[in-house]
Amino acid sequence: MKKYDYLVVGAGLFGATFAHRATAAGKKCLVVEKRNHVGGNVYTESREGITVHTYGAHIFHTRNRRVWDFVNSFAEFNRYTNSPVAVYGDEVYNLPFNMNTFSRMWGVKTPAEAKAEIERQVAAAGITEPKNLEEQAISMVGKDVYEKLVKDYTEKQWGRPCAELPPFIIKRLPVRFVYDNNYFDDPYQGIPVGGYTQIAEKLLSGSEVMLDCDYSERKDELDALAEKVVYTGPIDRLFGYSLGKLEYRSLRFETETLDSENYQGNAVVNYTRGDVPYTRIIEHKHFEFGTQPKTVITREYPAPWREGDEPYYAINDPKNDMLAEKYKKLAQEKGYILGGRLADYRYYNMDAVIENALSLADKLFGK
Ligand SMILES: Cc1cc2nc3c(=O)[nH]c(=O)nc-3n(C[C@H](O)[C@H](O)[C@H](O)COP(=O)(O)OP(=O)(O)OC[C@H]3O[C@@H](n4cnc5c(N)ncnc54)[C@H](O)[C@@H]3O)c2cc1C
Repeated sequence: MKKYDYLVVGAGLFGATFAHRATAAGKKCLVVEKRNHVGGNVYTESREGITVHTYGAHIFHTRNRRVWDFVNSFAEFNRYTNSPVAVYGDEVYNLPFNMNTFSRMWGVKTPAEAKAEIERQVAAAGITEPKNLEEQAISMVGKDVYEKLVKDYTEKQWGRPCAELPPFIIKRLPVRFVYDNNYFDDPYQGIPVGGYTQIAEKLLSGSEVMLDCDYSERKDELDALAEKVVYTGPIDRLFGYSLGKLEYRSLRFETETLDSENYQGNAVVNYTRGDVPYTRIIEHKHFEFGTQPKTVITREYPAPWREGDEPYYAINDPKNDMLAEKYKKLAQEKGYILGGRLADYRYYNMDAVIENALSLADKLFGK
């Protein structure tokens, strides 16, 4: 008999949700986390009484009622609605692309006028079957919106020209012919009052948690303690990169406290021109309608990923996906249970990660 039923590697949302359900089913869990805190990338901390999203802005939104009820049982969610704005030089536009954006761009008032302008620009560009992101974007919103709000921003984000990026990246881009600045279509949306860390802490309250503990460095010793391993770290690192390394995009965050009550008037402001090196500025207090005398802002710089950097976004091209599949097969053969964005090598929103962890728990422990 080993001391624990499950060794959970990673105290992010997947690991914490799984550990919560396992302990509720009477299982003993040891959760190891290489960082010095729980929560993974949804970790938040308080500065000047303001909740700061340490690893980038996190807005909770979902259409899954079970997941919404689940997170609401660990924190109170406010009515925050994501309505970013885009700054292009001296011009300010509402996002996502909607009647407010088109009206500001062309002076149009009605959906028919906006559609006619887009159709005129799409016809002038002569694109029939979009072969890359540039052509895809132009065929959806016309040349003006593409050039001012999509082109440089996307090139900063991915570090490659839009003409060399695949069209599918932008297919999900919301385009609406109503005056509605709500970015997400999901029926449930909000920010947990006081941040996300409390949710992770509550989820982990029935487990033993070891921080500053890198599984890869203490594998044999830790494996000996538990019957099963649930692994939520990078899948290639689990096997010492023996089949090769997966690729990612990374981010650099520059956070500053300012002696100003309100710096930009919105939580998320995108900077869409190429001569501004960051993609967006987050003003954290606006996620919770804060009235503190100071403010905390974070500039977000996209960055190439090198070993040792935080792997924020998987690069799901055919080469990387094939390699990730080989690692997943190996993990299955060795009896690992995989979960979360790093082990699956996929971008997931928070609700999908929780849904996946709940489904795994349903399978193992019943609903
Ligand atoms: C910039 C950014 C913004 C985002 N914004 C949103 C948003 O607005 N809305 C939304 O729904 N989603 C958003 N997401 C997605 C969200 O962050 C993820 O869905 C979620 O955090 C994934 O949880 P996870 O448990 O899979 O991974 P993680 O949070 O990465 O947790 C994995 C944990 O495992 C630990 N770990 C890794 N290797 C080891 C090891 N060897 N030993 C021990 N521990 C290890 C890591 O340190 C980490 O804490 C955003 C993501 C990014 C990058």
